[in-house]
Order: sequence, then C-alpha cells, then structure tokens
Amino acid sequence: MNVQKGILIVLSGFSGAGKGTLVKGLLKKYDEYALSVSMTTRAPREGERDGVEYFFTTREKFEETIVNNGLVEYALYCGNYYGTPRAYVEEQLAAGKNVILEIEIQGALKIKEKFPDSLLIFVTPPSGAELKRRLEKRGTESAEVIARRLARAAEESEGIEAYDYIVINDSLEECVEEIHRLVDAARRAPVRRKELIGEIREELKGFVKGAE
Ligand code: 5GP
Repeated sequence: MNVQKGILIVLSGFSGAGKGTLVKGLLKKYDEYALSVSMTTRAPREGERDGVEYFFTTREKFEETIVNNGLVEYALYCGNYYGTPRAYVEEQLAAGKNVILEIEIQGALKIKEKFPDSLLIFVTPPSGAELKRRLEKRGTESAEVIARRLARAAEESEGIEAYDYIVINDSLEECVEEIHRLVDAARRAPVRRKELIGEIREELKGFVKGAE
C-alpha cells in the first residue's frame, strides 16, 4: 500500500483569535504536522527571526520568486506581500505530513482553487466581545490599533462561509483536539483517498477477470 500523502490545511482567523498558539499546540502534540514559513516584504517585528516566523525579503526578490513560480499563493496585505514557498509544501506533503498554512483569506481562496482537496479552517474566539477583550488584554497595542484590528475583523467576518469549518477557540487544548479530529476525518474522505480507492478497484477487477 502506498503512503498516504498529507493534506494542505489553511488556518485563518481574526487577529487575537489565538492561531499561533493553536498551531504550536498541534505541532507539539502530533508529529504529522508541518508548518509552512511564509515569505514577506514586511519588516521584522521585535524578536522575529528570519527563517523562523517568516523569510524576510525585499519587494524585488519577492517579485522574482513570483515570476519563477516559487510560491503556491501570495497576497498583498496592508501594503506588504506575503506568500507561501512552494518547495517546502510539496516536499512535506509527499512525505505524508499535513502542512499548515497560517494565511489570510485571499490566500486561502487561492489555495482552495488550486488545491480543491485542501481543508480550510477558520478560528474565532467565542464572541466579538471576547475578541475585543483579548486584544485589550494583550496590552501591547494602542486603542487606535485595537480599533483598526476590530474593523479588519468585521471585514474578515464577511468571508467565513468560504471555509470548510469554523472552530471556536475557547479552551486551547480542546480546540487543538477539535482541529486534529477535523483533519483526521478529512483524510478519510474518499476524495482524499483516490489512490487507495484506485488500487482496491484495480485489484478487484483483476479478480473478476481471473474468474472469467
Ligand atoms: P502579520 O503581518 O500580522 O504577521 O500577518 C498579516 C496577515 O498575513 C495574517 O493574517 C497572516 O495570516 C497573513 N499571512 C502570513 N503569511 C501569509 C502567506 O504566505 N500568504 C498569505 N496570503 N497570507 C499570509
């Protein structure tokens, strides 16, 4: 039997929904996941390291990578380019890993178009009020930035129906488990087991011929 290829998982959600922590939880608990590190033209924030949070690059190099077909998707977000490097995604999928892309909605839609078997998950806090509370609690952003992020969240909420699932990040551990169960179920869908189905079918046809 062949090794089942991994699936592509898009994880999106409002700023403050806790996506980063969820991804860390998944990677720590299960070894079947791999996180894709994006390329961006935005400047690193304090503490961000090249090659860890992002591959930081220039606009010129980014555009060169687009032309060379080096990205599976990319988007312009708040004036900066963000994109998913192709090589890592392809390698990890072939090795059977479920590759997580933590990207915004324009990229998510492009992924669904190019990879119809990908799984799109949207993460949200239990309510709008809780999102506002979490953003305020961080204490790192000014009232103006919080207001901008809430406005952005309101815009993003218009696109949620494009996703396959919405999960509520209330308790972190439960949410990690819920995402893992969704991925596990998705991998059992016949649409993602075409090779296995093809093999069984061929084998059975062989028996039928043999009996004729
Ligand atoms: P930030 O600047 O806060 O790190 O990211 C801004 C937004 O860009 C977030 O919604 C993040 O999920 C998204 N993003 C990060 N990497 C990529 C990528 O490779 N492609 C796309 N389309 N969006 C990305």
